[in-house]
Amino acid sequence: MNKQEYINAAEQQLLHTYNRFPLVLDHGEGVYLYDTDGKEYLDFTAGIAVCALGYSNEEYKNALKAQVDSLLHTSNLYYNTPVTEAAGKVLAASDMDRIFFTNSGTEAIEGAIKAAKKYAWTRDGHAGHEIIAMKHSFHGRSIGALSVTGNAHYQEPFEPLMPGVQFAEFNHFDSVKELVTENTCAVIMETVQGEGGIYPVEPDFLKQVRALCDEKDILLVLDEIQCGMGRTGNMFAWQHYGVKPDIMTCAKALGCGVPVGAFLMTQKVADKSLAPGDHGTTYGGNPFVGAAVSAVFDIFEKQHILEHVNDVSAYFEEKLDELVKKYDFLTARRGMGLMQGLVCELPVGKVAAEALNQGLVVITAGADVLRFVPPLVIEKKHVDEMVPKLEKAFAAVSAG
Ligand SMILES: *Cc1c(COP(=O)(O)O)cnc(C)c1O
Repeated sequence: MNKQEYINAAEQQLLHTYNRFPLVLDHGEGVYLYDTDGKEYLDFTAGIAVCALGYSNEEYKNALKAQVDSLLHTSNLYYNTPVTEAAGKVLAASDMDRIFFTNSGTEAIEGAIKAAKKYAWTRDGHAGHEIIAMKHSFHGRSIGALSVTGNAHYQEPFEPLMPGVQFAEFNHFDSVKELVTENTCAVIMETVQGEGGIYPVEPDFLKQVRALCDEKDILLVLDEIQCGMGRTGNMFAWQHYGVKPDIMTCAKALGCGVPVGAFLMTQKVADKSLAPGDHGTTYGGNPFVGAAVSAVFDIFEKQHILEHVNDVSAYFEEKLDELVKKYDFLTARRGMGLMQGLVCELPVGKVAAEALNQGLVVITAGADVLRFVPPLVIEKKHVDEMVPKLEKAFAAVSAG
């Protein structure tokens, strides 16, 4: 089949839930992707903040191959060694006490919601608890995760959703405070809003919410699915703020391409929340994904990924700021580390499509943001290669 035939077949077979770019990807190497025609693309998307190590990392591939040869799956009715090793590494990096592995970010959010509800059930001796979430947030597409996603367009067709969710203004403490009732069990937010347009949480806001939660015995749930795993220059974005969540979620780059997520909690929450019979998963934390997570943490350490992100992101920010100065249609840069957004008055979907023609993969966030979530292993030379490709895309879209 040629490229167009693949596209036609996919459009006939796959449920049409995505408007896909006309790109059939074949393989990757380092920070480059190649399509079935052999065309090269510089990747500043990383499969939406997933492929932190880029493509075809030898140590990662070897760890996966070795696990394929020994054991893929057992069941959570038994112990397995790879996931136990992985758990130790994630807990050490996050300073959390307990972890539950899931198959996706959405499922991690589901678990976090259940843990918070069960905690409050133990706290109060009854059910019927409420959650405060943020406007313009994104936490996933299942009914529970969608219920805390502050986007009416995503929610409306599927109502009624999970009851008891109220939406506050992100980064406005009073709007959170006024929603608290005696039944509030959790405040949930992304430490850096991703889909909503790359908005980092403000330090004062997060500290005030933390203090409020402490005062009322409400759980602070931080969604680190997109911003976690080194992307902002710390292993988890909340580590920049001197504020620790009670529950956090992780996925995307956790397995660097293997479907795995997790929700993690402090011992205080674990003691009063999910117990045998309350929650489960067939695949979650199986030996295969355990080996992937374990390898990811080892490689992060060996390759000094965090130091690298801090180094390269300073340069990246400088180059993006230069673009904002140069072009009137770019009105702001927002972000932390290698999670950056350019607010753009040109139609961002067209810019992303034109960038593909120039051999550059970028995506959008919200209605007017170009989103850059490259592999964490990009180097300054890749930033230098990205900028002119992006400028050519700007020129093509400006020319109409
Ligand atoms: C991607 C994402 C999710 C959902 O994760 P899936 O793995 O797609 O289910 C949840 N929260 C945030 C912040 C995300 O970026």
